[in-house]
Amino acid sequence: MSEPLLEVRDLQKFFLTSRGTVKAAQGVSFALSPQETLGLVGESGSGKSTVAYTIMGMYSPTGGQILFRGQDITMSHTKRPLSLKKELQIVFQDPGSSLNPRRSVEKILELPLRIHGKVRAQEMSQAVGELLEMVELPPDYALKYPRVLGGGEKQMVAIARALAVRPSLLVLDEPTSALDVSVQAKIINMLIRIQKERGLGYLFITHDLSLMRNIAHRVAIMYLGQIMELAPAQVFFEQPLHPYTRMLVSSIPVVSQEEEKLKPTKIIPKGEIPSPVNLPSGCVFHPRCGERIEECSHEEPEMQEVEPGHWVKCHLRASLSTKG
Ligand code: SF4
Repeated sequence: MSEPLLEVRDLQKFFLTSRGTVKAAQGVSFALSPQETLGLVGESGSGKSTVAYTIMGMYSPTGGQILFRGQDITMSHTKRPLSLKKELQIVFQDPGSSLNPRRSVEKILELPLRIHGKVRAQEMSQAVGELLEMVELPPDYALKYPRVLGGGEKQMVAIARALAVRPSLLVLDEPTSALDVSVQAKIINMLIRIQKERGLGYLFITHDLSLMRNIAHRVAIMYLGQIMELAPAQVFFEQPLHPYTRMLVSSIPVVSQEEEKLKPTKIIPKGEIPSPVNLPSGCVFHPRCGERIEECSHEEPEMQEVEPGHWVKCHLRASLSTKG
């Protein structure tokens, strides 16, 4: 296996609020290889965006370590050298608020090219044209302003801006969740093509598990700040082991009878997600879990590798471990 592009080790991020300490991320660990897409999936409040923003240096971690190509980057964005900032880029959910409405698309794309890209003035218009082509927008879009663009087109400009500095890793924070289904599919296919052409790694943050079938090589599921299961995408969808994953996978709409046969029987969760200020003891999923056993309410399960590359945090699944 190649050296990881990104490695997150035991990441913790807590927020002090008037209601108490919110443990938004606890003991989060994973690695991402070059040219790999890892889907980090979770419901609202699961901590997935906190993990993304901490990796980007927008939040300082409470504990743990973040490595990029083996180099420790556990520091805030402002302290990171320019050469490192260039390597990690993020695309946000709402392209409308991330694009300056007073700048044309050309000016929006020129800015990162000038700061990081070392593109000479006489080559600028060609470089902007190449970026537009990369995201499948016609050359005349260079002169348009964000207000006249549709949601999908704005997101394509945001992706082009992130690609302008030739990063190695793109963090995609719900990049298609505000878009309708046909535009979503277009952007997902475009991202898959760009990954192949440029050899990028993607950390894809989403609440939409079904989207991960098409793009992710591996999927990790988060619940109340912790990763519950991490597996290659096919295994994740066809042989989910964690009760929470099984619950989510059982709710995904499918298009064929073959897919329907592979799904776990529909599982209805008990109750609501508990407050992140007052986390349940033992396994954080135990108040909602239909399979809980006595120890679940007071003993936290460990993350265990039950087969190569398939990790599960559950007392029941630990018995399946091939590690002995
Ligand atoms: Fe359910 Fe217990 Fe497994 Fe948690 S550890 S998911 S409560 S069976």
